Amino acid sequence: MHLPHPTLAAMLFLVFTATYLAIRGLFARRVRRAKAVSRADLGDRLLILLMGVGQVVLPCLVVTQPLLAFAARPQPDACTAVGAVVMLAGLRLFWRSHADLGEGWSVTLELNADHRLVTEGVYREVRHPMYASFLVLGLGQALLVANWIAGLSGLAATALLMAVRLPREEAMMIDQFGDQYREYRRRVGAVLPRRRRVGRA
Ligand code: SAH
Repeated sequence: MHLPHPTLAAMLFLVFTATYLAIRGLFARRVRRAKAVSRADLGDRLLILLMGVGQVVLPCLVVTQPLLAFAARPQPDACTAVGAVVMLAGLRLFWRSHADLGEGWSVTLELNADHRLVTEGVYREVRHPMYASFLVLGLGQALLVANWIAGLSGLAATALLMAVRLPREEAMMIDQFGDQYREYRRRVGAVLPRRRRVGRA
């Protein structure tokens, strides 16, 4: 029999996922509904759905139900410990990016009438800290969910989100902010901080 009772790793994953959803819920309530620009098409909505399935629905089902048992893998204690630390780091970055982006956040590709380009806080280090947090959370999921499919589904969905949405999001930001965004992009890395050159090269 597979998964007779929830493991520590499974319980930790559920608690972290509940925290993730609570953070999102808290910040989502603070943003305005009316948007001036929207590039929300069917493709972007499908990406959001896929993220929900990959990050939340599939792993939560697999750690609580005897599903996808053929793809189960062992769960060494070290994997659980490292996974918990990675998840906490991902949640912290997720929280920070929501706090710094403030009213600029939207679930799909949208801009407020008075949209302000945020380049401070974690946005000073990278241009896409929230997507970076999804990568870190995805790594934590891979370490905590003892199943090859449901463990890797968060990272797979995030990789697709980044491949498809990131260029579209940046094109929207350039249309809106022009050289201000081009200059920001030259200076700041997408998901990894760039080493700042000190002095003359
Ligand atoms: N890609 C960013 C933001 C994700 S939320 C991140 O990973 O942190 C998506 C929305 O954020 C987009 O629709 C866009 O309106 C807004 N956005 C993205 N970068 C921004 C920035 N630097 N300043 C203000 N708004 C931004």
